Amino acid sequence: MKGLAKLSISALVLAKSDIAIAQVGSAVTTPLGSFESTKGAACACSKLSQIYSEIINPSGANYTAQAADAYWDIRANLSPACILLPSSADEISNALEIFQACDAQFAVRGGGHMNYPGSNNIDGGVLMALEKFDKVKVNAESVEVGPGLTWYDVYEALEPYGRAAIGGRLKTIGVPGLSLIGGFHYFNNKYGYTMDNVLSYDVILGNGTQVVANKSSHPDLFWALKGGANNYGIVTKFTLKTYAIPKVSTTIQVINESGIPDFLTAVCNIVKLDESDPIAAGMVATVQYNATTKVVSASLLGVQEGISKPPSQFANFSAIPATTRINNVTTMRQWASSLDTPKQMFRVMFSHKTMKPDQDVLISIYRAWKDAVDEIADIEGLYPTFVTNVAPASAARVALTNGVGNVWGLEAEPYILWQFSTGWALAQDDLRIEGWSRQLIERLNAINVEKALASDFIYMGDAGEWQDPFAGFPAENVARMRKIKSLYDPLGVFSRLNWGGFKLGV
Ligand SMILES: Cc1cc2nc3c(=O)[nH]c(=O)nc-3n(C[C@H](O)[C@H](O)[C@H](O)COP(=O)(O)OP(=O)(O)OC[C@H]3O[C@@H](n4cnc5c(N)ncnc54)[C@H](O)[C@@H]3O)c2cc1C
Repeated sequence: MKGLAKLSISALVLAKSDIAIAQVGSAVTTPLGSFESTKGAACACSKLSQIYSEIINPSGANYTAQAADAYWDIRANLSPACILLPSSADEISNALEIFQACDAQFAVRGGGHMNYPGSNNIDGGVLMALEKFDKVKVNAESVEVGPGLTWYDVYEALEPYGRAAIGGRLKTIGVPGLSLIGGFHYFNNKYGYTMDNVLSYDVILGNGTQVVANKSSHPDLFWALKGGANNYGIVTKFTLKTYAIPKVSTTIQVINESGIPDFLTAVCNIVKLDESDPIAAGMVATVQYNATTKVVSASLLGVQEGISKPPSQFANFSAIPATTRINNVTTMRQWASSLDTPKQMFRVMFSHKTMKPDQDVLISIYRAWKDAVDEIADIEGLYPTFVTNVAPASAARVALTNGVGNVWGLEAEPYILWQFSTGWALAQDDLRIEGWSRQLIERLNAINVEKALASDFIYMGDAGEWQDPFAGFPAENVARMRKIKSLYDPLGVFSRLNWGGFKLGV
């Protein structure tokens, strides 16, 4: 808890603002667009600039680097009234008090990978970017990680100790966003989701109070943060379990069109594996279609703990003729280092649904998707992919047996998350892509509903902004989440003032 700092900042907020960013009501033009200056943002930016040197205004040298270049999806680029780069928990506490006192809207950015506008950036409000929270401390069986780090940073810190954490699968994804929404790693089947491996969260609540949430301190908040996203506070430190995984066995496979039915069958088979002592193994399985050249191919990025080469769990994939097949034994860091997902490459729309594994239906969904891509082949920069993520029964069983649980409340059944990830170039096509993606996924999911294969579960990391993940959680979990929110965020700071992302609502 903080003490005196709180009082002095509150006094400052009540003082007359003398460094307004712009006259309230006037239009402010930034390198990225324009916004109308509001009383809340003008008040907050003014107060922040009296206290902190690290405030970037629209005319500041680093404005574009912070408001655009740090984001994965070009659609997420917006025009904040000012940008704060806090470097301590106290600075965030003070900023939150200012936001409340000024009634100012704000956004928070960790790794900047959430892909839709407003989830991590803001027009005309205050952006708080957490990049200075870059400390990592390795303990015997855990690691303490700041929210300014990527998963590559974590794997790099752990490599000398022969240990690994359960985090993101690609290099540049941020630690905070992924940990707070759940976390699909290669090794979910044995160790559960990232959220199941968080031992403790240092959190700053909406009123600026600093708390630690773990099994014995604020256990209700501890549970709610396991999948509850950005509804409760700003996390300034995650303490994560680590495992002795000095080496991983990896496989990269590229399969051409004729092998895709077998590829999707192998996805269904791997998710159905349910051994009592599983070998940790998982993958990124993607089909990509070039609607101009009409070439379609599938790719597998598979990782398994240990050194068996080739990795045994991917035998069903390895039996399919491939144009590329590279097996290797390496470390998590080395593997992740090659899997960059460059920022600012595309505008991207996600849409996803969940189903029980059924190869015939999954193959028919893929074929329908490919046909539908042809309908929008004229869109400039079109980059359509059909992605599958696996949620095996053994992954859900970790939360069902660890005495803590998580907000998803998934039963121990195998599920496939199927997703359209569609990239394109021009803002003028935003609505067309969204309409196409939404109607297609709903139409195809209706088939699964009819066949009793559909699950309501929606993962925030794969969802479109128009989807409601909370509707797919058990109703009693959502009721409990709301109750916990009313205790820890009674003024609704993380719904009223910080409204972007997947929100429980007011
Ligand atoms: C290319 C790509 C690959 C991906 N791969 C995977 C994968 O392998 N596994 C997986 O599970 N998901 C994956 N995802 C989804 C990813 O986990 C989410 O987009 C996640 O939100 C990214 O975290 P971030 O810190 O980079 O995001 P950000 O956009 O910075 O943050 C996401 C949300 O969390 C909030 N937030 C950020 N930091 C904090 C904090 N400290 N306290 C409170 N709220 C905070 C933000 O305000 C925002 O609403 C991927 C996404 C992309 C684009």
